[in-house]
Amino acid sequence: MTVHFHEEDLPAGVLEGSSALAVDTETMGLVTPRDRLCVVQISDGSGDEHLVRFSPGSEYEAPNLTKILADESRVKLYHYARFDLAAIQYYLGVMAAPVFCTKIASKLVRTYTDRHGLKNLAGELLNAEISKQQQSSDWGGPELNEAQREYAASDVRFLHALRDELTVRLEREGRMHLAQGCFDFLPTRALLDIAGWEDRDIFHHSNGTFA
Ligand code: MN
Repeated sequence: MTVHFHEEDLPAGVLEGSSALAVDTETMGLVTPRDRLCVVQISDGSGDEHLVRFSPGSEYEAPNLTKILADESRVKLYHYARFDLAAIQYYLGVMAAPVFCTKIASKLVRTYTDRHGLKNLAGELLNAEISKQQQSSDWGGPELNEAQREYAASDVRFLHALRDELTVRLEREGRMHLAQGCFDFLPTRALLDIAGWEDRDIFHHSNGTFA
């Protein structure tokens, strides 16, 4: 297991193939147009993770990375895809779908708990330990330290195994079609976030104030 570090793009040929890709992003914060994309992490499930770091003032021209993210023949695995899809669309200009979201899957089958964080899932389903110590660290600095690199990599390390286990449970409970419908909607949900509907549930009967 190796963590590979790259600046501004993946090298040509890396991560090519047809396997599902685990994807995560680190940003300066939770407001996508304000808080720039700093790191994209990717793994094809073979045991290695690739980190692509973007500098302040980056042009976000990453043809090798965007080519594999936009490849419609490869499923992208996320934990909370809604956020990552919006960040990738906004900064890199591609919709990184089709999607499997482990958080949505968890909410549809782990109805006995309200703990749907990645750390909770890895612990309960895989008996794996993920540290969340670096979750709110400064991803925009000139160097990513060892702890940040390890944290960033660990966020994509377990997504393939989680997808497999959650799929078994979704099928067991007869909810795979509900999950798939949600996954298929996530690109549109991310576009609604970018377009200004981030706080508004347009499926709800009433949204209170008109805006
Ligand atoms: Mn992360």
